[in-house]
Amino acid sequence: MSANFSFASLATCSQTKARAGIFSTPHGIVETPRFMPVGTLANVKTITPAQLGATGAQMVLANTYHLHLQPGEAIVAGGGGLHKFMGWHGPMLTDSGGFQVFSLSEMRKITEEGVTFRSPHDGQMIKLTPERSIEIQNILGADVIMAFDECPPYPATRQEVEAATDRTYRWLKRSISAHQRQDQALFPIVQGGVYLDLRARAAQDLAELDMPGYAIGGVSVGEPTDLMAQIVQTTAPLLPVNKPRYLMGVGTYREMAIAIASGVDLFDCVIPTRWARHGTAIVSGERWNLKNAKFREDFTPLDTTCPCYTCENFSRAYISHLVRSQEILAYTLLTIHNITELIRFTQKIRESILSDRFVTDFGHWLEPSAIDLEKTDLTST
Ligand SMILES: [Zn+2]
Repeated sequence: MSANFSFASLATCSQTKARAGIFSTPHGIVETPRFMPVGTLANVKTITPAQLGATGAQMVLANTYHLHLQPGEAIVAGGGGLHKFMGWHGPMLTDSGGFQVFSLSEMRKITEEGVTFRSPHDGQMIKLTPERSIEIQNILGADVIMAFDECPPYPATRQEVEAATDRTYRWLKRSISAHQRQDQALFPIVQGGVYLDLRARAAQDLAELDMPGYAIGGVSVGEPTDLMAQIVQTTAPLLPVNKPRYLMGVGTYREMAIAIASGVDLFDCVIPTRWARHGTAIVSGERWNLKNAKFREDFTPLDTTCPCYTCENFSRAYISHLVRSQEILAYTLLTIHNITELIRFTQKIRESILSDRFVTDFGHWLEPSAIDLEKTDLTST
């Protein structure tokens, strides 16, 4: 691993593969396991970097595809690079843009060279290749950058997934050759869809390359939770034990707990921020719609155990009033709380691993029969 990055495992659970560690980057440390908030366009929507810091956020994501389209990496570089431009001075990660190209853009054409797609902003045809993605990420300047991968849809045939997985490996080799900056760590991404043997083979191939960290991608694309659990349980243990492992796009309590039990360290997900903007709070893993009539005269905080600014100062009734009135402050307060809630969940798991109480304290989230409360909208009943 480059001198700029290191990963130290401080404790391992005696009953699972869960571990508590410290990932060191040029902009600071990340205490793992840890949830990472998503700041797509170089901001976490509705909150300031100071408010973001107060949630306990350590590493924050930004999105290569979106920043390339708007405002363009040259402007980010002109503003001093991603950290300075957006006023966030802690560790940052950019994705490669691959997932967005494959999931969002229409009119895309995939060849061995890369992907061509139509810009949703001005209709221009844009070509993204492994070399171009890495060049853009080198210019943006996040601490961790991601290899350009082909994320097959779900469902897809084994033949399609195998072709995408093989191409992802060839594109990784090109990403490694293109990468220019020693102060950025390049993470490869394990693909392989729901085919466990393809996943295992991809993980083993990547493990041999001795990268500074590893990601598991192509999950949370519509497959059932139990299938996702099998993918993570198969893949994570095959990745090097002395490197951080990042599960992309996952951020519900149950999915994070199961992945942590398999040895995953880092997570990201748009759920806490997106739900906040829909007037929804996450409380103890449940999903609460603040428009619900029962909150109108409820003068208690969202979560009496939560130390966030929102829970320390405001009642459910007040937030419900703001949501009903479509006041922007509603979304700010809910974003602060929701991010704090998910980070606290991973922090509490970290503490439980350090005292070897992970299974005792969080075992109920590991049961296949656990009710997936996050996916239950309590207001619909
Ligand atoms: Zn709170």
